[in-house]
Order: sequence, then C-alpha cells, then structure tokens
Amino acid sequence: MIFDECYIKSQIRAVPDFPKAGVIFRDIAPLFHSPKATRMVADSFIQRYVEADFSHIGAMDARGFIIGSIIAYELNKPLVLFRKKGKLPGDVITEPYATEYGTAHLEIHSDSLCEGDSVLIFDDLIATGGTLLAAAQLVRRLGASLYEAAAIIDLPELGGSQKLQDAGIPTYCLTAFA
Ligand code: AMP
Repeated sequence: MIFDECYIKSQIRAVPDFPKAGVIFRDIAPLFHSPKATRMVADSFIQRYVEADFSHIGAMDARGFIIGSIIAYELNKPLVLFRKKGKLPGDVITEPYATEYGTAHLEIHSDSLCEGDSVLIFDDLIATGGTLLAAAQLVRRLGASLYEAAAIIDLPELGGSQKLQDAGIPTYCLTAFA
C-alpha cells in the first residue's frame, strides 16, 4: 500500500484545549478506527525497519503500544513495554520527565534489556520529547544502546525531535503538524 501523507493527516483529529487550555491534542483514535489508515501507518514503519539491525522495540504507554506491537509482531522482535509509574509488577527502573501538559515517571522492568541490546523506541507523537528522552535514559541505564526514536506524528514547534537529535539519537516521524 502506497503511503499517502494527506490521507493519514486527515485521519488525525485536532482537539483544541485538551487536556488543558492552549494544547491542541492530536487525536489518533480516528486513524485506528480506519483499518486502511492503520495498515498504511504500520506498513510504512515495517518497510522502513524490515532490514534494520536492532534487537528490541520499546513501545511507550499507551498509544505507542498499538503500532509498536504491530511492528514487533511483523519483524519478529521482542517488545519492551515502557509504562507510566506503578503499572509494572516486577523490579523496575524509573525516570522522571516533563511533558507538554505535566510531569510524569516512566518505568521498565530491570531485566527487560541488557548490554549489547539495540532498541528502537516508539511512540505515537513527539511533542517536547520528554517521554522518548526518558525512555532513552532507561535504555542506557540498562547498558543497551539506542537504534532510533520514532513516532507517527512530530510537533516540531515544541522542539522534541530536535532535542532527541541533539542528544545523538536518530529520530524519525511519518508526518508533522506545524
Ligand atoms: P512529549 O513527551 O512532550 O514528547 O509528549 C509525547 C507524549 O505525550 C506522547 O505519548 C503523546 O501521546 C502525548 N502528547 C503530548 N502532546 C500531545 C498532543 N498535543 N496531542 C496528542 N498527544 C500528545
């Protein structure tokens, strides 16, 4: 299926002032409601990474899980769940981070990665970059390396994708809203 950026953008709904005043929330629920759009997005990441040399996919809680798990399934790679605080039952390591609309903590199980692993970290959207920078820290704390940070949507005006690249992490997004 040929990637059609205009069509994908048309499936993402802009919700002003959610979850707080001044934020334009980019809602991807309509995209997932369309099997055609979901397949187009998933296939374009699968094509990008089919020959890629990474060992694990790290998917961000919660919307990063959806396409992240499809990529992991199709490429037969292990999936590591990066979760918000308090959701994982085992031994975890934790990183605090700031987002566009608050502060939070990200966690992974301490035994989910080790030295020599190379990780594609994936989320639905990059805003300030706080989530994926925290994920990158967790990856590095377990001795693994970053292959790339990827998302469906970039909000370049919030500077996150630039921050990730400035931190030495290759960064890729399918589309952007200026
Ligand atoms: P950040 O950590 O600031 O890059 O924010 C990215 C995370 O917050 C992603 O998991 C997004 O789902 C969510 N997010 C932040 N800003 C928005 C927005 N304007 N629209 C939709 N999701 C957002």
